[in-house]
Amino acid sequence: MRDLQKMENPGLYIHIPFCRRKCTYCAFYSVASFDRNKEDAYLQALAAEAAWFSSHYFQGRRVSLGSLYIGGGTPSLLPVGFYARLLERLAEVFDISSCREVTFEANPEHLEPDYLRDLWKYTPVRRLSIGIQSFRDEDLQKLNRCHTGQEAEKAIENARRAGFSNLSADLIYGLWGEEGAAPWAENLARLASLDLPHFSAYALSLEPKTVLWRRVEQGKAKMASDEEIEREYRYLQAFAKEHGFLHYEISNLAKPGFEAIHNSNYWRNVPYIGLGASAHSYIGDERSWNTGRLGDYLQDAVGTKEREILDEADHYHEYVMTALRTIQGVEKARLAGFREDLQREFRQRVAVEISVGNIVETEMSYVMAEDRRLLTDLVAEHFF
Ligand code: SF4
Repeated sequence: MRDLQKMENPGLYIHIPFCRRKCTYCAFYSVASFDRNKEDAYLQALAAEAAWFSSHYFQGRRVSLGSLYIGGGTPSLLPVGFYARLLERLAEVFDISSCREVTFEANPEHLEPDYLRDLWKYTPVRRLSIGIQSFRDEDLQKLNRCHTGQEAEKAIENARRAGFSNLSADLIYGLWGEEGAAPWAENLARLASLDLPHFSAYALSLEPKTVLWRRVEQGKAKMASDEEIEREYRYLQAFAKEHGFLHYEISNLAKPGFEAIHNSNYWRNVPYIGLGASAHSYIGDERSWNTGRLGDYLQDAVGTKEREILDEADHYHEYVMTALRTIQGVEKARLAGFREDLQREFRQRVAVEISVGNIVETEMSYVMAEDRRLLTDLVAEHFF
């Protein structure tokens, strides 16, 4: 096991696996019904799991966290009191005051003034990531979202009034077939008018067993073609330049200084602790993940955990795969820390990628060529 004393402060992710209903495309682990009776049991299970992490990895030392991210599911479905109580319990084993960023995922329909006021007052949350997906009501209905475009704009206004300025929105593209350019341009224009410092843009993907997947199987829905996705991604790249966004990761864009700390740390291989049903963790040489069955997690939050030990080749692959998604790319200094045979393997492979124009070499690193960024995952696989 790597020396945990010398590690950067880990990030903490808390998964809230409840949603009001399931969006057509969603494969995240969440239960599409919300039973208030489970709230307290879930809180106890999260606290028990946190205590286990503290004793198992850190000898009961109160670890200073680098960042905290509460995601889901739909965290904003639960009352603020739940988070106030949960964070009080977690503060027994983690130092949360050391967090440089505390993010809370929320759906627009929950961001009423009272909720936001309490969130600001009773929790350390200062950054909101809002699941907008589209400002167009016809898209939102198609995706089975619970809000309207107008509610999304109102949510941002409410958040600002409550004091939140570090705001992010999630948007989805690849929804419109041939007419894609116009609706995508409309969504980005509405986003620009809100002047957010950060947003994430994801191409709609087909995940097995989702409602969308069944519709496509039955011929009732069609996914966007590669050409359409590429056209919309190019539009996104141009939009980012025009509006001063740094496209710092394949799906993430920020005004300077607003890059997401928690997510960036995933890409930098900083350790993280994941609490909750289906959450993943990465500490030292160990990766672990929890059961996705809520009932099992509630019964025994720790006993159902699965673990694997990562060797140096795993760390190398993980690093290359995630680093290529970012504008920093694979840094030569980091590469030099890996075994000589892995470095040699990298040099051979990267030479091929450079020759076909997929990767560009700079003084400090290897980065995806701007016009090939959509191929990042494919290119990363060549390094395995
Ligand atoms: S609200 Fe989010 S987590 Fe819940 S079903 Fe929709 S996309 Fe999935």
